[in-house]
Amino acid sequence: MADPFLLAHQVGPRIFDLSGKLNPISIRDQMVRGRMLIDRAIEANLIGPDEILLVIGAGACGATAAVRAAERDIKTLLIDKNSYVNDEPTPFRLQHQCKTR
Ligand SMILES: Cc1cc2nc3c(=O)[nH]c(=O)nc-3n(C[C@H](O)[C@H](O)[C@H](O)COP(=O)(O)OP(=O)(O)OC[C@H]3O[C@@H](n4cnc5c(N)ncnc54)[C@H](O)[C@@H]3O)c2cc1C
Repeated sequence: MADPFLLAHQVGPRIFDLSGKLNPISIRDQMVRGRMLIDRAIEANLIGPDEILLVIGAGACGATAAVRAAERDIKTLLIDKNSYVNDEPTPFRLQHQCKTR
């Protein structure tokens, strides 16, 4: 696997971390990262239509990655440890609390 973007985010065999250690700055950055990871991983044959992709974290990054994977016909499971508000599934917990924009 020679793709520098994949190498920069790889934390284990076919495991990539787009959030934690990078201290993400903006929603847009994270959406770009999420989309790029899926496209590059497909190009590198790391994921394909016969496998299930697990995305951990339903924030801007994870949700974008999951949507992109679905667009590219990858079966995808998106999970979040904090995604329920009043028993309702609620992705984007960070933004959900914002009342001003
Ligand atoms: C107060 C504040 C204001 C901001 N204002 C702006 C702004 O105006 N514009 C802007 O562009 N950016 C802003 N940002 C930054 C922006 O919110 C982040 O860059 C962006 O949300 C990061 O997206 P993410 O998906 O990487 O992480 P997050 O949005 O943090 O999502 C990560 C998700 O992963 C889940 N998770 C974490 N660990 C686990 C686990 N072990 N198992 C399961 N789920 C897990 C969390 O519950 C969370 O839902 C702001 C950030 C803060 C804190």
